[in-house]
Amino acid sequence: MKTFGSMLNGARRALTLSKTAATVATAAAAFTLSHGAFAADAKIPVVAAENFYGDVVQQLGGDRVDVTSILSNPDQDPHLFEASPKTARALQHASLVVYNGADYDPWMAKLLAASKSAKRATIVAADLVGKKGGDNPHLWYDPQTMPKVARAVSEALVAADPAHKSAYDANLAKFLDSLKPIDAKVAGLHGRYAGVPVTATEPVFGYMSDAVGLSMRNLRFQMATMNDTEASAADIAAFERDLREKRVRVLIYNSQATEALTKRMLKLAQQSKVPTMSVTETEPAGKTYQTWMLTQLDALGTALAAGDASGANAAAATTPPAKGKTQ
Ligand SMILES: [Zn+2]
Repeated sequence: MKTFGSMLNGARRALTLSKTAATVATAAAAFTLSHGAFAADAKIPVVAAENFYGDVVQQLGGDRVDVTSILSNPDQDPHLFEASPKTARALQHASLVVYNGADYDPWMAKLLAASKSAKRATIVAADLVGKKGGDNPHLWYDPQTMPKVARAVSEALVAADPAHKSAYDANLAKFLDSLKPIDAKVAGLHGRYAGVPVTATEPVFGYMSDAVGLSMRNLRFQMATMNDTEASAADIAAFERDLREKRVRVLIYNSQATEALTKRMLKLAQQSKVPTMSVTETEPAGKTYQTWMLTQLDALGTALAAGDASGANAAAATTPPAKGKTQ
């Protein structure tokens, strides 16, 4: 970030010179501006590995940023993504790069290492929240992650473009404020459903489930889905028993990580009348990070209420909830 800022200061100094000095200095300034990080009025080129981070950068940077998001298709499994030469090219021109880390997007660190750039600032969400490879990597579902990412992004934008600090500050305040309804919804669900047992086909919603206080079951099965490995026969049997005997109130289904086995669990949940809710890893088109989270929390609330009304899970509810960790 420092290098990035100092390049910009260089461009600014050159610009000041051009206003006061002779033609030679003007020519030099013009060269600096057209070949520097970006001209004073050009947009800041940003690459986000995932489109929800790209969305947040866009909200914080407004018309001062030009954002490219790499993972943006909610119909593909991001865990199986492989970077293309197109991805590498986008990175070459980026002044700011934001990615998840914690092994969610290992291709990103590789590409960055292969194209070193002194003018590039990098923000890794996992570093901001103290997570690493092996932890549940779906960090954007933790309500505590995005405020930290937003602050770091805003700081980087101010460092790159200090002339517009007041606009970035205002955008940050507005963004942080816009997260309040999400926190309120999480608190509301927590008050009603803390300790209720649920299960999921993949750990994408894990941090949000933890925030709501739900007791998440079948974690090993979920990790196998995520890592594209085979779940053990015992883990599959336990999952099926939870659904058949309605030991869980809701099945959370990741519609971006589907295979024969997860589809089978979805079908079994439907047959057993266990309410299901579908979640995605990638932000769907037409949504913002905020509306996406709110929609999914609403869907969770509906599913939990349906499980409630059907009288499901009477046996499990009498068992004290295990302090469920997502990982
Ligand atoms: Zn996932």
